[in-house]
Amino acid sequence: LSIQNGATTKECPPLGRLIVLTGPSGVGKGTLMRSLLQRHPELYYSVSVTTRSPRPGEIDGKNYYFISRNKFEQLVAQGEFLEWAEFAGNYYGTPREAVLKQIRAGKTVVLEIELEGARQIRASFPSALSIFILPPSFEELEQRIRNRGQDSEEAIARRLQCAQEEIKAAEEFDIQIVNDDLETAVNAIAAALFG
Ligand code: 5GP
Repeated sequence: LSIQNGATTKECPPLGRLIVLTGPSGVGKGTLMRSLLQRHPELYYSVSVTTRSPRPGEIDGKNYYFISRNKFEQLVAQGEFLEWAEFAGNYYGTPREAVLKQIRAGKTVVLEIELEGARQIRASFPSALSIFILPPSFEELEQRIRNRGQDSEEAIARRLQCAQEEIKAAEEFDIQIVNDDLETAVNAIAAALFG
């Protein structure tokens, strides 16, 4: 009854939106994301869980929550992820409760995830806005992954192979944005979100 009397409704803000940013590894999603968050600190960035080892400078709880494969599999079994995927030999997942809590509080939540996870989100949240980031060219993407200088030859080869497949999926998503110039690409994302 108390749910129907109107008083409760007043206390509930409208649900927040879910935004998915996807695209091949090395396309610059992370940089775009940081720039977007700087401009719009009101957005909630969902920190993912991964079994990958931290790269130099990465901080547990800020860049990712770094956990073991065993622990990850346990969390999957407990239904703790909104989506999860294996990418280039490691697991990555979005913590369910943290994201739903923000959406319930009316916040716009942004996920920066790979293709399989983005597809899962599209399937379970059809109202999510999905954005696919494209590199200006495949050669440019290879250069960016190499310039990062943080991955082994084997990891680079795996990531490039994934990227080739992933780029074909761009059309599945609501909006496609080419990350040629950072400023222009962030403007395009902001326009899609707020424009
Ligand atoms: P990296 O190892 O370079 O940080 O990330 C590899 C890929 O995993 C990137 O494409 C990144 O967007 C994606 N990724 C990061 N977090 C998640 C997540 O929670 N779920 C999924 N499905 N992919 C993620």
